Amino acid sequence: ESQLNPNYSFENFLEGDSNRLARSAGLAVAAKPGGTSFNPLLIFGGVGLGKTHLAHAIGVDIKDKYPEKTVLYISAEKFTQQYIDAVKKNNRNDFIHFYQIIDVLIIDDVQFLSGKTGTQDVFFHIFNHLHQNGKQVILTSDKAPVDMQDIEQRLLSRFKWGLSAELQNPDFETRVSILKNKLYRDGVEMPDDIVEYVAKNIKTNVRELEGAIISLIAQSSFNKKEITIDLARIIVEKFVKNTKREVSIDYIQKVVSDYFQMDIDTLQSKTRKRHIVQARQLAMFFAKKFTKASLASIGSQIGKRDHATVLHACKTVDNLSSTDKQFRKYVEDITKKLSI
Ligand code: ADP
Ligand code: MG
Repeated sequence: ESQLNPNYSFENFLEGDSNRLARSAGLAVAAKPGGTSFNPLLIFGGVGLGKTHLAHAIGVDIKDKYPEKTVLYISAEKFTQQYIDAVKKNNRNDFIHFYQIIDVLIIDDVQFLSGKTGTQDVFFHIFNHLHQNGKQVILTSDKAPVDMQDIEQRLLSRFKWGLSAELQNPDFETRVSILKNKLYRDGVEMPDDIVEYVAKNIKTNVRELEGAIISLIAQSSFNKKEITIDLARIIVEKFVKNTKREVSIDYIQKVVSDYFQMDIDTLQSKTRKRHIVQARQLAMFFAKKFTKASLASIGSQIGKRDHATVLHACKTVDNLSSTDKQFRKYVEDITKKLSI
């Protein structure tokens, strides 16, 4: 049993700027599993951006092209559970053997392995065996390898051997086409302005985008009401409210620049003036602390810096807050402003 979901196909995975690299790397891997330099292929990105879908799509496509290959999809959580059970039953070797004879191993949400040293260790051996034998490994994670925590260095370095491809937030056009495709598949008609209204207002999570459309359809058929923009407004508002819990990087930049009475352009500028540099470093520090964004993505949103700059900023803020009283007060004040 491959555990693959045939509905999660490439055909249903709409292409856009936000996923083009990951999608085409996936197609390349599916055409030649184990035969590209994308091994492992690691797909990373935030919640609901299509990691699981894309991982299945690769497996489904491989099964189509190479029916004789054994393909296995498993979540890192289930993998861990299986391993724990195997150890309890004294079946560790059988467990390892089972995974070493697979041609294409897909492990979803590897961030779940963080801190689980036993499972990491066994996965390390399985990975090495598969890789040495030209077998394909596909991984997904909510973070880039550079941002992963409590994963052994030797495993992280393996993760970086192949290609890490990010799934980003889809742009407006992609969101519209995802919705239209879904409506088409479900045989539901909806006026363009309503589809666009939903796509305009739900930006950061494809699962919620689809969820909003599904509840819109359900509401209207349940109450035998036409799907109107007013109904769309009510439903979208519910979705947006529920996701406001996470502060955005934009919001952090606004709070920090307001606090220091500068504008966001100044905060992001290339200047080396000390108070501006500090404000920018604080914004990076809070983005790391309060959002799930990767270091790379934080850097690109705060003045187009790279991930090393963000890492350095976080360390600097940590150091200064323990040595400089005034600076610690900044951190405390801004923390208060951010925790609504
Ligand atoms: P993740 O694993 O990253 O949390 P999922 O793969 O579960 O996200 O995707 C959430 C939902 O969004 C799924 O229903 C998936 O089919 C859909 N989805 C995500 N990206 C796309 C896309 N590019 N085209 C079509 N559907 C998508
Ligand atoms: Mg997933």
